[in-house]
Amino acid sequence: MAFFLILVPLFDFSTMSIAENYTTILQSISSEVTLIAVSKTHPIDAIKEVYAVGCRHFGENKVQELIQKNAALPNDIHWHMIGHLQTNKVKSIIPFIHLIHSVDSIKLLSEINKEASKINKVQDCLLEFYIAQEETKFGLSQNEAFEMLSSEQFATLKNIRIKGIMGMASFTDNAETVKTEFGQLKKLFEATKSRFFANDPSFNTISMGMSGDYHLAIEEGSTMIRVGTTIFGSRTYSTI
Ligand SMILES: *Cc1c(COP(=O)(O)O)cnc(C)c1O
Repeated sequence: MAFFLILVPLFDFSTMSIAENYTTILQSISSEVTLIAVSKTHPIDAIKEVYAVGCRHFGENKVQELIQKNAALPNDIHWHMIGHLQTNKVKSIIPFIHLIHSVDSIKLLSEINKEASKINKVQDCLLEFYIAQEETKFGLSQNEAFEMLSSEQFATLKNIRIKGIMGMASFTDNAETVKTEFGQLKKLFEATKSRFFANDPSFNTISMGMSGDYHLAIEEGSTMIRVGTTIFGSRTYSTI
């Protein structure tokens, strides 16, 4: 018996399955908000559990992992690239990627356009904005984004479609800070829309909110949340 008691704390007896976690979140949010299950670092079998209860939007942040998972899973999955994307990796994801959330330069956008044009695809993208106080986050400032969208080079890109914006709040327990930052993102969305996409109904996406803050993000106008830990549990980063 002592042996058994020692083993008990090593197992995770959390009461809900991965699929139940997903369904619980889905039922708690408006049907107008897209729930992306962020499956990075989690195995194919975990993705299949969520797929089995209807999830078709999955998010990954590493190109290699994305390619492997895409090859191993049904092709009606909408894959979202949510991590920093290097230009030399663009080519390998264009054939299947649904939405690239992390566009942060004209150089990257041009490369996406080039690879998409080769296969006659118009690639949906979001502009990643920088709002958090941390220095490590990628993303554009309003000035950088407006400069890019006004440029002659941007006007020549026919194989990309900018669907909206993406951003991350500071990693903090301070709900006021997070709320303020999401409010800033929403204002950036409105400003970008009115200046560059006023007549473009497909510019309609605000990707903001993760496990710790998606409720606040939805209150501030998010249309797409990216949830990993609350669905799949914590990440170890040791294997795929
Ligand atoms: C990992 C990641 C998420 C999900 O984070 P959780 O806190 O696990 O929900 C969302 N967005 C981006 C950009 C990520 O890299």
